[in-house]
Amino acid sequence: MAKKQFKAESKRLMELMINSIYTHKEIFLREIISNASDAIDKLCYRSLADGNLGLSRSDFEINIKVDKDARTITVSDNGIGMTAEELDSNLGVIARSGSLGFKKELDPEKSEGIEIIGQFGVGFYSAFMVSEKVTVISKPFGSDKAAKWESSGVDGYMISPAEKEGFGTDIVMKIKEDSENENYSEFLDAFRLRSLIKKYSDFIRYPIKLDGETVNSMVPIWQRTRSELTDEDLNRFYRDKFYDMEDPVKSILISAEGLVSYKALLYIPKNAPYNFYTRDYRAGLQLYANGVMIMENCAELLPECFRFVRGVVDSPDLSLNISREMLQHDRQLKIIATNIEKKIKSELKKLLSDEREKYEEFYKGFGLQLKYGTVGDYGTKKDMLAELLMFRHASGEGLITLDEYTAAMPEEQKYIYYAVGESVAKLAALPQGETVRERGFDILYLTDDVDEFVMNVLGEYAGKEFKSINADDTGLSSEDEKKEAEQKQEENRGLLDFVKETLGDKIAEVKLTTKLKSHPVCLSSQGHITLEMEKYFSSLPGDFHNVKAQRVLEINGDHKTFEALKSAFNTDREKAAKYAQLLYFQALLLADQPVDDPARYTQLISELMV
Ligand code: ADP
Repeated sequence: MAKKQFKAESKRLMELMINSIYTHKEIFLREIISNASDAIDKLCYRSLADGNLGLSRSDFEINIKVDKDARTITVSDNGIGMTAEELDSNLGVIARSGSLGFKKELDPEKSEGIEIIGQFGVGFYSAFMVSEKVTVISKPFGSDKAAKWESSGVDGYMISPAEKEGFGTDIVMKIKEDSENENYSEFLDAFRLRSLIKKYSDFIRYPIKLDGETVNSMVPIWQRTRSELTDEDLNRFYRDKFYDMEDPVKSILISAEGLVSYKALLYIPKNAPYNFYTRDYRAGLQLYANGVMIMENCAELLPECFRFVRGVVDSPDLSLNISREMLQHDRQLKIIATNIEKKIKSELKKLLSDEREKYEEFYKGFGLQLKYGTVGDYGTKKDMLAELLMFRHASGEGLITLDEYTAAMPEEQKYIYYAVGESVAKLAALPQGETVRERGFDILYLTDDVDEFVMNVLGEYAGKEFKSINADDTGLSSEDEKKEAEQKQEENRGLLDFVKETLGDKIAEVKLTTKLKSHPVCLSSQGHITLEMEKYFSSLPGDFHNVKAQRVLEINGDHKTFEALKSAFNTDREKAAKYAQLLYFQALLLADQPVDDPARYTQLISELMV
């Protein structure tokens, strides 16, 4: 029988497969097994539709045999089978079911082509990644004629009559010889094959037998109902599959039907993996189509803010669309992703309200990610995430949510106060906090770099604006108090101008403040750049050093040091200048800011002492 030529696009795909530099050649087995499973599905369906064909579901199986000497792997199924004509049309042309992405130009040099193999698989032709020759012997159910299709690559294929005992299909792959760079013999190793079946095809619904022994478990854990499973079943699966020693804080089993049907089993881990906050961490869910794994880390299924979630998603709709029709049809994936996001959010919220301790444990590892999520994605997730955030605070140990903060606000409190700094201890010592707390107002203590950006992005919560206790106007004073302060300020205009002049461009303004009680001074900032932001930016590599806050020196007009300054100003200007500088140094120290000239500072103190 004459050799037939592959159709143009099939030929290109063949070339891509044969010369593939794709490193996950192992997926060929998944593809061949998946086809076998589909063929059995079709016969199953026909036997259901046609009534009594004399077939029982338990008769179906996929058999794999390895012959090391002949270097062959044979995958046999007792599915629907193919006639000679079907062999020709199904295997001579790629994409019977419309494997469409490949109708476009396929350039073997281009990496997207290779990515696609990894992500979606390309069916039957992937056998050529590892085989020098592929022979398919098939006999359709109900026929007594078998046919053989064979090909050694791009130059074509031959179809001829054949002998075969039962119905179904045998795929015989003659494995390539090892080369300098490639070890193909590994695929002839039963142990390796067994682990590949476990890895990619564990949940195929028919038994996959390797040299007689069933390897796959057939019913995926996520296809079961919650009542059939113990917590330990769910936890064990998590630990084995995602290589974590610890149980997750939460398992989420989803069974969705509707626009898109899918099952999902998601886990919220307890601890962040060591590389979680680095580029090495690969986020995403494992994606299955009808029990066949088609993607190891499908990042599209998880929003960035929840990238810590691990799990699997399995949808029958995807096998017909995503894997076969590839990227064009990812609308389904989007619907699943949206549902999953909502589900994770609601489960986290439930954990927070019902199992506070567990939530806090989770928050220790991933709270930072929720904060990054709040400021990331152009702030589009902020409303969803705000109620999941927690902070340390002034009026108690431990963490507090924004809901808890706002619920505890006295009626007259207008703002949600916060302070940004290196540690809770330093923040608790901030002089500006004193008056806020004296009013009975709590203060959020923010110690992560991202925190201040979180406040800026959120802007407000439950209708209450966020306000730094360092802000120019913290909104604590009544109109009367403000007027009084302004008056006092004007009375001391000469002195304040003198202090400003003495300190020069170190500060933008000097003013009397109502924020302080027992402390003489504090430092605040004007405009958008705060002192903490300045610190953060100066710690970054690159040209951020000129991001500077406009410093304001606020002086407590009711403090004794102010009296001392005032009398020096009236009697001894030199001394007054020293006092002004000392007050500025104190303000820097209290604000946990670097003292720009420590020698001058100690000199001033020494002069006062002698
Ligand atoms: P796809 O599975 O995406 O349609 P493939 O290239 O893997 O593409 O297979 C092409 C076609 O060949 C299948 O659609 C199916 O009709 C047929 N086929 C492949 N393997 C088998 C098999 N084991 N039994 C019956 N038909 C098969």
